[in-house]
Amino acid sequence: MGSANVVTEGRDRVRRVACPGSFDPVTNGHLDIIRRAALLHDEVIVVVGANQAKQGLFTVDERVEMLGEVTADLENVSVGTFRGLLVDFCKANGVSAVVKGLRAVSDFEYEMEMAQMNYRLAEVETLFMTANPMYSFLRSSLVKEICRYGGDVTSLVPDLVLERLHARLAPS
Ligand code: ADP
Repeated sequence: MGSANVVTEGRDRVRRVACPGSFDPVTNGHLDIIRRAALLHDEVIVVVGANQAKQGLFTVDERVEMLGEVTADLENVSVGTFRGLLVDFCKANGVSAVVKGLRAVSDFEYEMEMAQMNYRLAEVETLFMTANPMYSFLRSSLVKEICRYGGDVTSLVPDLVLERLHARLAPS
């Protein structure tokens, strides 16, 4: 049947998606999205944006290293970095869609703009996944602030990230 061709078109193509972010550092909220994306797609590349002029708490290399360690058990997940436009990274690496987590309506406005622009620029799709309610309040900047002032972030980040946060933020 004619319509069968339409349905099967592209079925053999590898479904490779990217999860971009600053990951300074990776939290359990990020990991939840990465794991769920890995269940749905053939390959997931977690990409740390290296453009920001602003210095993070961790260097881009440190963030990549932590991401590599906490995703080591996910065989179809790899970690990389990008400079310049995310869509250029996508084109160069055969990535057809970007997966983003939506925590609240406040995330939506900005993400919608980015999604439409990325499609306009290079026909790169954006797929949104709703945050796990356990982590919908969680962002890296909040974790750093709580940790800096001695608060407990134990269940919010992987153990190895917790250790590095304590080491980095320990009063000298
Ligand atoms: P952060 O706000 O934590 O600094 P990033 O810029 O590193 O986040 O975010 C990268 C991606 O991860 C974005 O799509 C963001 O919406 C998503 N994300 C961040 N934190 C969470 C969370 N707690 N739950 C679901 N998605 C999240």
